[in-house]
Amino acid sequence: MIPFMIIHLDLDSFFASAERTRNLSLVGKPLIIGGRGDPFIFDPKPARAKRLITLNSGAFVPSLYHAAHDPKNYFFEGDRIRGIVTTASYEARRCGVKTAMSIREALGLCPQAILLPPDHLLYHTLSHRLMELLQEEIPLVEQYSIDEMFGDLRGWVEDRDLLSFMAALQRRIAEELLLPISIGAARSKWIAKLATSTCKPYGLRIVCDEELYDFVRDIPIDAFPGVGRAFGRRFEAYKIKTIGEALRAKSLIEGWGRQGRDLYAKLSGNDHEDVHPSRSRKGIGISRSMDHPIKDREEFYRRVAVMVRHWAHTIMRLGVNPTTFYFGIGYEHHYRSKKQFTTYRLINEPFLQSFAKEKFEELDIYPTLSIVSIAMSATKFLHHDPKTLDLLHYEKDQKMSALSKSLAKAREWYGMDIVRSGRELL
Ligand SMILES: [Mg+2]
Repeated sequence: MIPFMIIHLDLDSFFASAERTRNLSLVGKPLIIGGRGDPFIFDPKPARAKRLITLNSGAFVPSLYHAAHDPKNYFFEGDRIRGIVTTASYEARRCGVKTAMSIREALGLCPQAILLPPDHLLYHTLSHRLMELLQEEIPLVEQYSIDEMFGDLRGWVEDRDLLSFMAALQRRIAEELLLPISIGAARSKWIAKLATSTCKPYGLRIVCDEELYDFVRDIPIDAFPGVGRAFGRRFEAYKIKTIGEALRAKSLIEGWGRQGRDLYAKLSGNDHEDVHPSRSRKGIGISRSMDHPIKDREEFYRRVAVMVRHWAHTIMRLGVNPTTFYFGIGYEHHYRSKKQFTTYRLINEPFLQSFAKEKFEELDIYPTLSIVSIAMSATKFLHHDPKTLDLLHYEKDQKMSALSKSLAKAREWYGMDIVRSGRELL
C-alpha cells in the first residue's frame, strides 16, 4: 500500500516573507505588501526609480511597477491612500488584515503595519530558486503558482520516512532561502493542497487514506480547490456546506455531467491527477492592450521595443535560455495574427530586439488596421547546455549575453529606463 504519494508546498505569506529575506529587521513585525494598477510603461519619458517585472504563470499577467525607493508616493497621494493588500504577514493578519482589502482599511485595523510595494522580480527570483532546490530533492516537481508546488514522491520516499522527509525539506528551505513554507501530503494533489491549508503557517500535515474522510468532513465546500462560483451556487441550492456533505451526495454531484464526476473524484481523493513536471518551466511573457488603437507602425515598433526591453530583462535576470518564441498582434474588429518560432540562440537583448522586430514585421498582415494588443512569450528553456545552441552565432551571442547580464544588473540599481534601445527613441 502506498497511501502517501504527493506533497503540496505553499510558502507562508510569501511576498512578506520574501521582503524579510533581504531585510531581517522586518521579521516578527506586521507587514503589508500592497499593489496598485498597471504602470505606464509606454511613457516615453524615462523614470529613474522605475523597475518592472513581467512574468507569466501560464497565462499572461500584467507587469508590475516597483517603487521600492519611494513607497510614500506609491500608496499616498495627498490625503488619499491607494492600493489593495496583496499579502499580509501573519502578525498583520492577527489584526484582521486580509488579502484584497483596501490599504486604507488595512491601516485602520493595523496602524503600526509596515507598508511595502511589491517587488515581483524578487518574488520570481526566489520562486525560481525554490524550484531549483526542490528539483534536487524530488524527481517530479510541478510549479502550481509562484508560491505553490506539487511534488510526486511515488517510488521515492517510503511511507515511514515521509514525515522526516517533509521536515528536512522544510528546514532546508528555511535555512537556505530564509523562507517559511508549509507542506501537506496525501494520495491526491487536491487533498494534499487542502492538508497544507490546514497547517499554515510553517506546518506539516499528512492525511493518510484511513483518516481522509474525517479530515475533509467539516471543511467548507468552497474551501476546496476548483469549486468555482458555478458549483458553489449549486451546492448552496442543495444546502451542501461541507466536503463531508458533498461526499454523501455522490449520485447528485455525478449527475452534473463530466465536470460533476471530475469534482466528485477530486473531493474523494480519487482523481489520480498526475504531478505535471512540464509546468515547472513555464514561459516568460509580456502582453499589453493599447489604451487607444495604434495605426502608426513607427509607434507600434517603438512599443514592441519597450516591451522587448522589459521581457529580455526578465529572461536575463532569471538566467534561462528559451528556444521557443510566440508573438501575437491583436487588431481592431477582432482580427489576429500570431505565430510561434523556434531558434537555438544564446539569448541576449540585442538578438531579442532584432528577432522580435523581424517577426512582428512578418506578422503584421493587416497593415491598414489599427493594433489593439501586442503579446510575446518565450518557453522551452535550455538549462546550461550550450551544446544545442546555434554555433554560427555563438561567439557574438556570448558577448552580447554577458553585456545583457550586466545591463540587467545596472537596471536593478538605476531603474528599467536607464538603458533603452535606439528604436524606442524616435
Ligand atoms: Mg502561499
